[in-house]
Amino acid sequence: MASSPSTPTGASATRPGAITRTDPHHPPTTQEDTLATTPPGLPDRIQHYIDGALVDSANGETFDVIEPTTNQPYITCASGQQADVDAAVAAATKAFDSGPWPRMLPRQRAAILNKIADEVSALNDGLAAIESFDSGLPIRQARGQANRAAENFRFFADLIVAQVDGAFKMPGRQINYVNRKPMGVAGLITPWNTPFMQESWKLAPALASGCTVVLKPAEFTPVSAQLWAGIMERAGVPEGVFNIVHGFGESAGDALVKHPDVPLISFTGELGTGKIIYGNCARHMKHMSLELGGKSPAIVFADADVEAALDSTLFGVFSLNGERCTASSRILVERPIYDRFVAAYAERASRIVVGPPSDPDTEIAALVHPEHYRKVTEYIEIGKSEARLVAGGSRPEHLSKGNYVQATVFADVPPTARIFQEEIFGPVVAITPFDTEEEAIRLANDVEYGLAAYVWTNDVARAHNVAGAIESGMVWINSHNVRDLRTPFGGVKGSGLGHEGGYRSLDFYTVQQSVHVRLGDVHTTRFGATGYADGDLGLGGPSA
Ligand code: NAD
Repeated sequence: MASSPSTPTGASATRPGAITRTDPHHPPTTQEDTLATTPPGLPDRIQHYIDGALVDSANGETFDVIEPTTNQPYITCASGQQADVDAAVAAATKAFDSGPWPRMLPRQRAAILNKIADEVSALNDGLAAIESFDSGLPIRQARGQANRAAENFRFFADLIVAQVDGAFKMPGRQINYVNRKPMGVAGLITPWNTPFMQESWKLAPALASGCTVVLKPAEFTPVSAQLWAGIMERAGVPEGVFNIVHGFGESAGDALVKHPDVPLISFTGELGTGKIIYGNCARHMKHMSLELGGKSPAIVFADADVEAALDSTLFGVFSLNGERCTASSRILVERPIYDRFVAAYAERASRIVVGPPSDPDTEIAALVHPEHYRKVTEYIEIGKSEARLVAGGSRPEHLSKGNYVQATVFADVPPTARIFQEEIFGPVVAITPFDTEEEAIRLANDVEYGLAAYVWTNDVARAHNVAGAIESGMVWINSHNVRDLRTPFGGVKGSGLGHEGGYRSLDFYTVQQSVHVRLGDVHTTRFGATGYADGDLGLGGPSA
């Protein structure tokens, strides 16, 4: 992933205030040659954040980060190795074992989490500009990411203050209660789609639970993660509680997963990576949560509000450049409305505005990286031999460079097709007809994944019955993905292990120890009592 390591720059440490410097060695590229607007306030380079300081890699290694409208490098990022992960885990372990964070009252921690949220909200359009520039997300869709991320912190701040743990009474005999303890150093590994928001989804519950953390952001999009250092300091998070190690999955990520002092890993990314991490965690018996890919179906019955379904399924797969885990990338349409739906869908898709990420009119911008662009365009070529192309299918004529691809729609896609079965993670959708409810359910379930599903019908009973029959972690009825943070979030089958969201997230980051207290007589079968005279012990106590 990303480009190969460049010449070592030499290790040094700077404070997070350095985030606002402009680097004379990396002058901003112009509108003319990037089609994107360089956001103000970029740091001169991206560094790790370990024990309260921004630092280069111990061996000085870096990699180039590229900008997706030109695929030109525009900033370097520290490339973490074992030594950097060791340093970050040591800082987090010290902060956990002897620092105040895990010992704070929930309300004290919540106050700091709310300050983090305020700091994140204040980033506002500044964060949107950085995310859009670094990841190719259309600027209009990047706006709102700061508030989404802030909301995660506010939500878990509220939750830990309101949290109640169980107490179970056996009258006169025993009382049992739950002693909830933070798990330790949490290893958080995140993907490149909406990177800052994804990071907040793990950081907020981990920190709320009293864990200390080491975050390994995605190497394609490391830039916005640097903002966390200043945010955490200004909010009053003690040194060592929050650490970042950047770098490649195979080096920095792997070292974190295998580190013996990290008892749990929360990972979001591809199924293939998830399988590797699952195996590596097993060797150390680590707790883990895997949020993986998807190939989510939207089932549109003939009795649905078809206009609403059209709007929703277009947004569901083409928003965020189609780089969206819960994308409705397969649309199953009941035969009586199939032709009409396909024609309208293709027409709308062909009108979708593909353009530079910084243009507010852009609906689909540049895919994150040329490696990913190659994968998506290869799937489009495969699709042309498997199904009927009804919209898109190539690079837009007006955008000769950068990772641009048209909104692409395939119809009559057989369930055996690779574009029906495999996650493409780009602006590509497969539409397939069905004749009966049973067939729709069978088609929906006939893939390796099970993350999300969408059911469109005005028949209430059918909506609930079909939702229940679909093998997925989440189902939306007559809606696209609108989240309620209290609900379980996660997939089944190849889409993941474990569910987070609401109290489930706090359960993941904590040990729930049962404490059993004797209140009255407990029957004890006496072993070895034959020939033993009570009181022989001579130590006092009830039997003396
Ligand atoms: P990826 O699996 O390539 O990488 C994800 C992260 O894992 C990166 O930080 C990477 O450096 C790291 N990594 C890679 N190999 C590793 C290893 N051997 N050990 C430890 N860490 C390693 O995924 P991606 O391409 O960044 O993200 C896209 C994928 O993420 C898609 O499949 C998408 O569906 C999925 N995703 C899922 C959700 C969800 O909530 N289920 C949300 C967003 C994205």
